[in-house]
Amino acid sequence: MSVKQQILIVGAGLSGAVIGRELAQEGYKIHILDSRNHIGGNCHTVRDEETGVMVHVYGPHIFHTDDAEVWDYVNGFTTFMPYKNRVKTTSGNQVYSLPVNLHTINQFFGKTFRPDEARAFIEDQADKSIADPQTFEEQALRFVGSDLYEAFFKGYTQKQWGCSPTELPASILKRLPVRFNYDDNYFFHKFQGMPENGYSEMIERILDHPNIAVSLETTFRRDQVAGYAHVFYSGPLDGYFEYELGRLGYRTLDFERFTYDGDYQGCAVMNYGDVSVPYTRVTEHKHFSPWEEHKGSVCYREFSRACGPDDIPYYPIRLVEEKAQLADYVARAEQERGVTFVGRLGTYRYLDMDVTIREALDTARLYLARRNEGTAMSAFLHAPL
Ligand SMILES: Cc1cc2nc3c(=O)[nH]c(=O)nc-3n(C[C@H](O)[C@H](O)[C@H](O)COP(=O)(O)OP(=O)(O)OC[C@H]3O[C@@H](n4cnc5c(N)ncnc54)[C@H](O)[C@@H]3O)c2cc1C
Repeated sequence: MSVKQQILIVGAGLSGAVIGRELAQEGYKIHILDSRNHIGGNCHTVRDEETGVMVHVYGPHIFHTDDAEVWDYVNGFTTFMPYKNRVKTTSGNQVYSLPVNLHTINQFFGKTFRPDEARAFIEDQADKSIADPQTFEEQALRFVGSDLYEAFFKGYTQKQWGCSPTELPASILKRLPVRFNYDDNYFFHKFQGMPENGYSEMIERILDHPNIAVSLETTFRRDQVAGYAHVFYSGPLDGYFEYELGRLGYRTLDFERFTYDGDYQGCAVMNYGDVSVPYTRVTEHKHFSPWEEHKGSVCYREFSRACGPDDIPYYPIRLVEEKAQLADYVARAEQERGVTFVGRLGTYRYLDMDVTIREALDTARLYLARRNEGTAMSAFLHAPL
């Protein structure tokens, strides 16, 4: 193949790795570059040198999906160990079970309700005067009433998003965030697990193909586009255009690492609902690998704040202002030739890992189909708006 038939992929996270692998298997030569010194993107895991614990470097990642093809895909590259995400929260000097369930309700109100009694009780608590909730706060008050809202939703949301829940849209809280049984499995999905030796090993195996070359610590330049048959770009959409229309708003995270001799909190994730506690949660990484034994422990206190130009963008804000700006960037992107914007940063969306893989598989398939037809590849698989 000539250099013109080489494909450039920006980003060695899940998006870049899966697209690269799919196309490499079809005979394309793939060059993947990443500005970081490791593969895996934000799913990167590494063994902590001091404790030997597998650490989720950019925050806790639990794999969960209903997509059987995606589940088979990841299991083709690593062994997934059974893992159920069970989150606790500290609120007002007590520890509760999340998502808010029958145990939480009974403990919080000092009751012994059965499911129907709890449902009737919560319906009674709900603020029915709010007919058409517009904000996160109104939606929560209408669903669960002020006591549960104050204890479990208000402070956490305020810390996570850096603004009052009265400024966030109701759409963030789509469904009734309460269960009337004792199910404390955080996710509803059919398949759930944790890769035995971390996500980075899995992604390394996805990338392990003779047609794939990876260059780390290499930042993409736009003048590289012309040298390749096509570019799949999983970096920030606004970054591709050198932020010429301004910066899309993100929240970033700071992790404060500390170690403990033993078991610090008895679970992987402890949320902190009170605004008086400056962090949102503490992750104790060894509980993500319950099949391993470690005497020492490594934990991250997680702080959320506005993302500055030199910070890592984590959560897209996507309020009215950002969506208007996004529309302008999408219009610009659609005029580019030979570039497809993919992944969480390229499309400015929060994407779980299973959705990222699904979209990467579909993107590669669409590219192959378009090549067969002789038609141009689109800038996006799905419109990001
Ligand atoms: C705190 C947090 C927790 C999460 N927890 C879960 C979870 O529990 N379960 C779940 O399913 N999902 C979770 N996710 C989502 C998961 O992280 C994403 O699905 C996944 O990382 C998306 O992969 P990606 O390849 O699109 O992006 P990324 O992982 O961000 O990869 C993009 C890569 O591109 C590189 N790059 C960017 N710009 C350039 C450039 N100009 N030049 C070269 N390289 C560049 C970056 O360095 C990066 O490595 C979580 C996300 C966050 C933020």
